[in-house]
Amino acid sequence: MAETHDHSRGAEPSPDVSNDSDLEEGPVGDDLEEGTVASIDFGKVSQIGRDGHQVVPVVLQDADTGDVLFIGYANDEALRLTFERRSAVLYSTSRDEIWHKGATSGDTLSLVEVRVNCEQNSLLYRVRRDGGGACHTRDADGSSRPGCYYRAVEDLQQLRHIDA
Ligand SMILES: [Zn+2]
Repeated sequence: MAETHDHSRGAEPSPDVSNDSDLEEGPVGDDLEEGTVASIDFGKVSQIGRDGHQVVPVVLQDADTGDVLFIGYANDEALRLTFERRSAVLYSTSRDEIWHKGATSGDTLSLVEVRVNCEQNSLLYRVRRDGGGACHTRDADGSSRPGCYYRAVEDLQQLRHIDA
């Protein structure tokens, strides 16, 4: 796929940011999310810039295991709400709105601590999973996956499921 625009993919461009089960609809994007063909959206960050979003990347990490759950984005309001609710709040750059992770699905993430990197241009939310998972996709048993990085990238073309 040559196009890098979000809307050319027929699905949400980045599962890490924009797809919560809260607003998911049907099987669209199944191939992107379940397949083993690499289709990495290298245009994602430049698209965020073109759209003018005032956000920083956020690493979501399980505070107990150290597992990286996914990467999202936050603006200042999302960070403020994260402190206020003691639960991970992000900004959906594709839906262009505040996104309280898991508000509908139940897979909310309780806040343990927020860290910032040296240059203060990214955040680390250390969290605990309130539900079973953190990803909107489901494994073979029908359970929410615990995190979004369930496939290894073998090379530029090929992915491999590591949770199967
Ligand atoms: Zn995911």
